[in-house]
Amino acid sequence: DNAQPKKPDWIRVKAPTGEGYRETHRIMREHKLVTVCEEAGCPNAGECWSQGHATMMIMGEICTRGCSFCNIATGRPDDLDVFEPGRVADAVKKLGLNHVVVTSVDRDDLEDGGAEHFAMTIRAIRKQSPGTTIEILTPDFLKCAPEALETVVAAKPDVFNHNLETVPGLYPEVRPGARYFHSLRLLQRVKDLDPSMFTKSGIMVGLGEDRQSVLQVMDDMRSADIDFLTIGQYLQPTPKHHAVDRFVHPDEFASYEKAAYGKGFLMVSATPLTRSSYHAGDDFARLREN
Ligand code: SF4
Ligand code: SF4
Repeated sequence: DNAQPKKPDWIRVKAPTGEGYRETHRIMREHKLVTVCEEAGCPNAGECWSQGHATMMIMGEICTRGCSFCNIATGRPDDLDVFEPGRVADAVKKLGLNHVVVTSVDRDDLEDGGAEHFAMTIRAIRKQSPGTTIEILTPDFLKCAPEALETVVAAKPDVFNHNLETVPGLYPEVRPGARYFHSLRLLQRVKDLDPSMFTKSGIMVGLGEDRQSVLQVMDDMRSADIDFLTIGQYLQPTPKHHAVDRFVHPDEFASYEKAAYGKGFLMVSATPLTRSSYHAGDDFARLREN
């Protein structure tokens, strides 16, 4: 049975319009940059882009993995573009961003998983926009030597984000090719390498997980010293993707948020439309003020 639960009225998406939105669009095109906002069909694009906030996706549009929730094409990726870090840095400067989120596809085809390319991108942004805080959302570097992660951490992003995406019991169907404990350990290693770096992770709900497993994931994340947490509703990008099991009520999100703060996360965003990069800059600025 492929019948999907009906979209509730709290999943409301504002149509992208306005001058700010068009300007962000123009700058991305001009610098030949790919955004996850567009690739993933993110419901917040209208809001984020009108404020000049976008998540850039480096290392191409083709991923070596095929997660069942994700709209990015799977296949053999293109060669790395050595000019891309510079173009990302130019765009960040033009957009005048206080905070930027950079993510990538998974590059199991590269020996370092793309670690050096990430590091180059961080350094290029830092050089042109020293006041901009940099958040990276990385793949899991599963098949790489330990030096890959060290290379990325040494470039000193302000926030190191890697999503666990779902509870461990759903990994085989949702995140095949990834390992739950490897991903947790990756974030733990970031903290060990540089205790001053903020670490962040997130999951989607509505994929079939139960409350107890979500609370367990929070405990696992805190054991790995993860600072920030995001929880959002999974939305099916196309009928071929993983089905939506249910739409989690906003009150349940609020109760997850409360539980997470109780467990010691420094910053939590848990709402139906929360995405890994949603309001990332505002939240980070607020945290720094306190
Ligand atoms: Fe882009 Fe993230 Fe905003 Fe979605 S929430 S539009 S992915 S910046
Ligand atoms: Fe999508 Fe990332 Fe999975 Fe690739 S590794 S399919 S980009 S979620």
